[in-house]
Parts: sequence; structure tokens; C-alpha cells
Amino acid sequence: MPAGEGGSGRRETARIVICAPTSLPAFFPDDLEGTCALCQQGVRFRPHVPARRVLICLQCYLVHAEPGAACEVLEEASAEWAAIGLEVPRC
Ligand SMILES: [Zn+2]
Repeated sequence: MPAGEGGSGRRETARIVICAPTSLPAFFPDDLEGTCALCQQGVRFRPHVPARRVLICLQCYLVHAEPGAACEVLEEASAEWAAIGLEVPRC
């Protein structure tokens, strides 16, 4: 089954995931690492992010995001940040 297709056969649109660069300390020991699709620097992301994804580092997001672009904080991320006392960002 191709990545991103669930058992129902429904196609999922790839989501842009905003990531911290690997030059910053990790918040979670099970963070995964990848590469920013725009600048190719190393980034960290959580294991629960959508399977179909495009990883973008925070710096590229700040430079390239359109004003007012839709954004969401996944429930899993919100719960993890709250558990370690981080303020959950608003979109
Ligand atoms: Zn980048």
C-alpha cells in the first residue's frame, strides 16, 4: 500500500510539517530527524506527524509562509508540549 493511503484506499494530501532545526536541542528523546525540503538543513519532528508530509524548518516557514495561511497544532503535539510545560503555540 503506498505511503499515506489508509485501509479505506482514501488518498491523503501531504501536509507541511513545521520542524525545529537539529541545531537546536531536542525536547524529546524519541524525536526523528529529516531534512528541510527548502533549505536542506537537518530538522527534528515527532513520530506521530502524518505519514504523507513535507518537512519545513521553522526559519523557512517564517520566510515563505503566506500571511494568514491555515495552520493547526496536532492534538498529539499539544498534549506533549503541555506535559513538559511548554506553551502551545497558536496558529
Ligand atoms: Zn529550511
